[in-house]
Amino acid sequence: MATAPSFVIDNIRIFTGEEVIENGYVYVSDGVIVEVRSGSIPSDTDSSIERISKPGHTLLPGFIDAHVHAWRGDETALVLALKFGITTVLDMHLEPPYVKKLKALCADKQNDSLYADFFTAGLGAATGEGYPEIIMTDWIGTPSALADMALWPKLKSVADVKSYIRDSITQGSDYIKIFHESGKPMGMELKLPSIELLTAIIEEAHTNNLKVVAHAQTVEDTIAVLNCGTNGLAHSCCDVKPTEALVKAYQRRNAWCCPTLAATAMFTEEEREKAFKYAKDPRIVDIVGEEESKRLCKCMSHFKGHAELKHAVDSVKMLHAAGIDIVCGSDSVGSGKLGIGWGSSFHHELSMLVDNVGMSTIDALKTATINPAKRFGLSDRGIIKTGYRADLALFDGNPLENIDHTMNCKAVWKSGTLSMYSKK
Ligand SMILES: [Zn+2]
Repeated sequence: MATAPSFVIDNIRIFTGEEVIENGYVYVSDGVIVEVRSGSIPSDTDSSIERISKPGHTLLPGFIDAHVHAWRGDETALVLALKFGITTVLDMHLEPPYVKKLKALCADKQNDSLYADFFTAGLGAATGEGYPEIIMTDWIGTPSALADMALWPKLKSVADVKSYIRDSITQGSDYIKIFHESGKPMGMELKLPSIELLTAIIEEAHTNNLKVVAHAQTVEDTIAVLNCGTNGLAHSCCDVKPTEALVKAYQRRNAWCCPTLAATAMFTEEEREKAFKYAKDPRIVDIVGEEESKRLCKCMSHFKGHAELKHAVDSVKMLHAAGIDIVCGSDSVGSGKLGIGWGSSFHHELSMLVDNVGMSTIDALKTATINPAKRFGLSDRGIIKTGYRADLALFDGNPLENIDHTMNCKAVWKSGTLSMYSKK
């Protein structure tokens, strides 16, 4: 097996995920962080070790995108993530053949320079009606989408739960995704799964040491699913003004929230100028190309008139102020799907956490590193610390002063393997 080379990155600013080192170095050997210190590397360090000196640059833990869809197992999701400084993606619903394919690609160390690391919910707890079936049938409706949907579970009662969780584990699910979507943000009325069923799924997942992430987008649906015991939410609430009861429900469960604000803005067709700014930014266009850039300017708009970005932003403000962990996720689906792109939209989301929610840049960067690592139990990453994986991203400038600088990604290492190095 190839081992990743030893190297030192020095004369850099470091945000470890916990603290800022204004001028320091990181020593990496065999894919692992060996030393992180302020100051210069000791003069007696082995001179044969490669040294990368980058004054004016900032080193961060490789980002973790806590909500992606590697649609139909397209490895482009993992390729683009890495190019944008994201070393781990957390997929939120994928059919078993595609899970198998992407996990095999990531298991091969030879591929470390090509693909971001991949975790997945596998098949979400679909019931055969309501959401998300409506997306596949009414909005997508292609023969391939319908064929994929035929693989989904059809959880009808508590009696189906044990085999669903057992199959999920066999098929490689790293956590469980449930859905509680009344359809209100889309102006629809959809059949909801029973509270009894959701509770049974969560309990069985927890019995098997699996965390549960819930799709819900209204205050009412979110409180209901938190009361069932979910560990986290895959979206924020955008239907009405958020309430104290929402915050209390999060607090009672010590749950986290992945706001997906950029996706919400695309669904409600708000803040388009900002989306265009990202879509047309040369730092994005250079990587994704003109066609994808055009798609990033488009909207699905199916929340328009039924939901508001302001509600989603206000709910995240309240949760953050109350000390609820926020994790950054793009909800990107990728090529051919409008408005939200793999890799690129993660940076749009980060900027919204600062500009719309009002988070400090440090808090925003934590949502992209240490918070998702902690909340998803990824205990080997998300922080630059001795003994952790050398998942690192180097940026020209200082994202701690200006969050826009996360778009200035100049180098990415996954497990100490260099995947991208831009001299520009
Ligand atoms: Zn999603």
